[in-house]
Parts: sequence; structure tokens; C-alpha cells
Amino acid sequence: MTENVEAIFEKVGAVLKGHFLLTSGLHSPVYWEKFRVLQFPRLTEQLCGMIAERFRKDNVQVVAGPTTGGVILAHEVARQLDVQSIYAEKEGNERLFKRGLTIEPGARVLVVDDVLTTGGSIREVLGAVDKIGGKVIGVAVLIDRTEQPPDFGAPFFACHHAATITYQPAICPLCAAKLPLVKPGSSQQPVK
Ligand SMILES: [Zn+2]
Repeated sequence: MTENVEAIFEKVGAVLKGHFLLTSGLHSPVYWEKFRVLQFPRLTEQLCGMIAERFRKDNVQVVAGPTTGGVILAHEVARQLDVQSIYAEKEGNERLFKRGLTIEPGARVLVVDDVLTTGGSIREVLGAVDKIGGKVIGVAVLIDRTEQPPDFGAPFFACHHAATITYQPAICPLCAAKLPLVKPGSSQQPVK
């Protein structure tokens, strides 16, 4: 199945090669542009199905994700599990469930995200879930880019593991080679 995930991403041109500035601040020669996959509902359904199957017996009551990709993933996983879906939005250095979104006290929450690099966004969602009194029973991502995923304090599942090189900007060989640095995502603009 894991080969299929990479094949899906490759098929829609979602595995970009170059010199990228990741949200984490690190540089990388590879960027997984998940939105090239998420634009196709059937592919999203297929990938989210892997997550739904993994946690189907865990009595999930709520699926939560961070904006932006996590909104789509949380919605689709929740649809397949027939439960509630909520998303956490950026607010300063943290994330919060806004728009009056609430859950039952002690609700069993599955946290989902698209690509795991450092776990920053997921930790923000964990904080947001904690704030509204939910109990995190699992964390799932489409692509795990880490060598070893961080301990989120709950069972972790990735549809695909693809440990990919990242560089601290100060020692980035792509910077040294003067390759233009691109900030992928919504802007797709070269970084000055
Ligand atoms: Zn660089």
C-alpha cells in the first residue's frame, strides 16, 4: 500500500524537486505538494481511507486538523468514520478552534495532518484539543518526512514514510550552490 501512496503523489506531480523553504524554516531538495493530490476528491478519499481504517476500532468521536490541508483531511476522514470534524486556525504562535466550534467534554479526538516535518502544526492542534477538553487518541498524517516521528503522546500512523533530507539554512549546500530558494505552498515565489 505504501508504494501506492508514493505512486499517487508522483502521478499527479506532487513530489517537487529543487530548493525549498519549508514551513519549519528548514531547507530541502524535496517538497511534497499535497494540494496537487488533495485537489482530486477520489485520491483524497483513498488516502484518508487508510487513516480511517487504522482508527476505525478506536471509537473516534471527532477528527481535528490544522488549516489548510488538515481541513480537507479531517473532513474526509470524519466522513468515512461518520463523526464530527473540526479544524484549528492560526492565532499568533498557537492554533485555536474558532467560529464557535466545540466538542463534547472528553471526546475522543483523532488529529490528522498532511505532511509531517517537525510536528509543529500537530503540536499546535494537540494544544487546541487540550484547551477544549478533548482526549487525543491518535495522530495520523499522509506523509511522514521524519527519520523518527516525534512522540505525540498517542498512537501515530502515517500513510507513507519518506524520510527526506532537510538542512539548516546556515549549512545548506543548495544555498552554497546559489540555487534559488523557493517558498512553496500558496505563494510559490522565489524567496529574496
Ligand atoms: Zn538552502
